Amino acid sequence: MIERLITGYRCFRNGYYKKNSERLIELAQQGQSPKVAVIACCDSRLDPAIITQSTPGELFVIRNVANLVPPYESEGVWHGTSAALQFAVCNLQVEHIIVLGHSQCGGIKALLQQPKPADANKDFIASWISIADDARQRILHRTDLQSFDEQCHACELESIETSLLNLQTFPWIAKEVECGRLQLHGWHYDLEAGNLLSLDPVEGAFQPIV
Ligand SMILES: [Zn+2]
Repeated sequence: MIERLITGYRCFRNGYYKKNSERLIELAQQGQSPKVAVIACCDSRLDPAIITQSTPGELFVIRNVANLVPPYESEGVWHGTSAALQFAVCNLQVEHIIVLGHSQCGGIKALLQQPKPADANKDFIASWISIADDARQRILHRTDLQSFDEQCHACELESIETSLLNLQTFPWIAKEVECGRLQLHGWHYDLEAGNLLSLDPVEGAFQPIV
């Protein structure tokens, strides 16, 4: 497998890098100034740059299990996602933050399969995905969802809304949103169909992007 990656690297170095070297060198020398931050899942099947046809320097991508945003916490030390968000908003001054969920998300599936809300401190994944415990509760109380797959899909969408609310608990995000300098977006990508949904803030519902 590593051989395949090295072959791929050689192909990149002689192809993509050479073809785009002017832009890549300019980025290296002048620094990055992306306008968009994306919070995506670690899932290997979804690449935010590929589905939006973005190039290096355009997207500031933060990845974690189930593309979750924790609430603002002044306690604690190792806040990887929060630190990356702070850098994106306060240093890079991005104009958009997209929470990008996806279908067949293993993190959301694990959240719904838990017999009860996670006992934090015991397990890294259970503790992390407990950010979306509220979303889980709302889904488990819905009677219109016929199958586990439907519950998962609904929970993927619901947890995006939880993350959007959590984003606004960060004072420096709330301030920028209030001033109109920063916009928050909720997207969901279907791995199989290749379709993208976007949360309509007025309707409060996800609509297909066509
Ligand atoms: Zn996922």
